Amino acid sequence: MNESTQQKPIISIVSPVYNEEAVLVELHRRVSQVMDQQDELWELVLVNDGSRDRSAEIIDELHQKDPRVKGISFSRNFGFQVAVTAGLNHAQGDAVILTDADLQDPPEVYPEMIAKWREGYEVVYGVRASREGETWFKLFTAKVFYRLIRRITKIDIPLDTGDFRLMDRRVVQAINNMPERNRFLRGMIPWVGFKQTGVEYERAVRFAGESKFGSVRQMLPFALDAITSFSYLPLQLATYLGFIIAIISGLAILTVVLVRLFGPESPLLGQATTLVSVLFLGGVQLISLGIIGEYLGRIYDEVKGRPLYLVDKKWGFSEEKSADSTD
Ligand code: UDP
Ligand code: MG
Repeated sequence: MNESTQQKPIISIVSPVYNEEAVLVELHRRVSQVMDQQDELWELVLVNDGSRDRSAEIIDELHQKDPRVKGISFSRNFGFQVAVTAGLNHAQGDAVILTDADLQDPPEVYPEMIAKWREGYEVVYGVRASREGETWFKLFTAKVFYRLIRRITKIDIPLDTGDFRLMDRRVVQAINNMPERNRFLRGMIPWVGFKQTGVEYERAVRFAGESKFGSVRQMLPFALDAITSFSYLPLQLATYLGFIIAIISGLAILTVVLVRLFGPESPLLGQATTLVSVLFLGGVQLISLGIIGEYLGRIYDEVKGRPLYLVDKKWGFSEEKSADSTD
């Protein structure tokens, strides 16, 4: 069948791929197994996020064998959020299922998600009933992080969900229209609204290869993007701290004056006290400056207006689509 005469898929499955040579063939096998039992036409969109292994060649082979597999290869690694964004930009289905390539999100859950979508829900997210094979450190930091995010932002991010979810075309369109560079999709999707619901699933262990988000160094930028994208609280913290310190020092000044006028002879304050209070204030000021810097840097990124990603190669997308990288 020629690509241009091929019918438009109803369901798109989108997966970012970064050094996943060991899982791609199995991903395709499991997805086909599940989706071939459904009535709808489907496509599998793999976004190669600058992998340094054989991922690109494997995508090429899969596409030759099965034209329902489509691919986009970036010119370098742009990060998970951007890879997913590119997948959403290119997916053509009426509904898009977002999944990790490593089969931690089992394809066997798709039919349940599709059924909920048919019932009229625009977003169906996967709720992790259990998480096998994750370190206690990852589980603990995730728990603290999502509870913190819920408290300090106004959007309602459902607990125990990851990026595994189905989205209706209207939601995908809304996300495609959000031009921001620091993308925190787990917040952007609830922000869009519409009718959202969840289905429970058992999060599996990674099929092969290793996690790219295991260490603090890899998780911290993600956390900062999430907070700065959806909350001004850190900025306001400086104001609150300023008020608190001003009030305390006002009282202290009053005390010093009163003690000097009416108190005993002995000098009240020594050098150490002066030094400590100056250092304390210096610390508070540096932290406040740092917080402003975090926001300022992100504003700078937005203002530069560079394309979100650059495409090196595409498989299975027509030429008009591939002319522009931020379509
Ligand atoms: N990934 C990506 N770009 C990156 C890092 C990761 O596209 O810079 C992809 C990766 O290939 C996988 C998904 O994002 O499909 C989730 O990554 P991983 O499984 O390592 O994270 P974890 O499940 O451990 O949080
Ligand atoms: Mg994973």
